[in-house]
Amino acid sequence: MEARARSTPLGPGGEFDRIREVLRGARSHSSQVLVPVGDDATVLAPDLVLSTDLALEGVHFRLDWIEPDEAGARAVGAAVSDLAAMGAELVGVLASVAAPAGEVWAPRAAAFMAGIRDRVEGLGGLLLGGDLTRSPSGLLVDVVAVGRAERPLLRSGAGPGDELWVTGHLGGAAAAVRLWQEGAPVPCSLRGRYAHPEPRLAQARWLVAHAGARAGLDLSDGLAGDAGHMAAASGLQVILEADTLPREPHPEVTLEEALHGGDDFELLVALSPGAESDGRAAAFRERFNLPLTRVGILRAGRGVALVAPGGGEPVALTRGGWDHFSRIQEDMF
Ligand SMILES: [Mg+2]
Repeated sequence: MEARARSTPLGPGGEFDRIREVLRGARSHSSQVLVPVGDDATVLAPDLVLSTDLALEGVHFRLDWIEPDEAGARAVGAAVSDLAAMGAELVGVLASVAAPAGEVWAPRAAAFMAGIRDRVEGLGGLLLGGDLTRSPSGLLVDVVAVGRAERPLLRSGAGPGDELWVTGHLGGAAAAVRLWQEGAPVPCSLRGRYAHPEPRLAQARWLVAHAGARAGLDLSDGLAGDAGHMAAASGLQVILEADTLPREPHPEVTLEEALHGGDDFELLVALSPGAESDGRAAAFRERFNLPLTRVGILRAGRGVALVAPGGGEPVALTRGGWDHFSRIQEDMF
């Protein structure tokens, strides 16, 4: 793989405007860097994949929603999902934790760290190192995920006419968050979608090796927002079809949540046309016992457009996904 000439363009959104501002003029390239900043992870020669992901109490999780060990495990699952998005194998993680001092917090911090350790091991990875410091309030972990990929799956490889496919179901985690915020009971299946994200490591590598996946990423910010990243990176327009979205099979989950809700950690991949008729999709479903659903196409143009339920002409989507600096985020917490 040749070193790439420039960073991968990010999609629209206030959070990404801030990242663009910081990166302006920053030196991010060398002969060692095969995939620079802008994708789900960076790739250093020859095949080392690195990503970092922060989980902060009160922003990414709350301890009146999930237990401390689940919060630690969830942070690892979310971080490792970025390796899955690159078609990488997991080697291990470095985890830097901050926790408040005191008797009340000691057992929570211990459970949080045990959750981190157990989830790494459960995913077949190693705890490679980390740091521990005192926090003025609440738990925090930054997880650096380390993996290897001989054939990294980038956001930028899609071509016009490619079809977009999504693994699993969408909207479950966002519906759980909404119900918690409303003070309503959260069904077990939706709670699980938020608390126990499953990085699709094997699925992504299979899609690269056996289905010819040309571009891909993981759905952490919501389908619409993340599709915008693929559109920007590939220099194309994404057309999503509302009637096809694989909404989490629970009556509480809305189309809005399937389209814009974050934290599903499923994969969005671009495949050459015909994956349903030529058996690639069926082979995936049989191997992983997991849905693989065609949700749209890529064509010449920019941004993301949606064909509304019932059909019609695609309409440009302007709202982003789970943007941590947007009003959506302020409304959420
Ligand atoms: Mg990602």
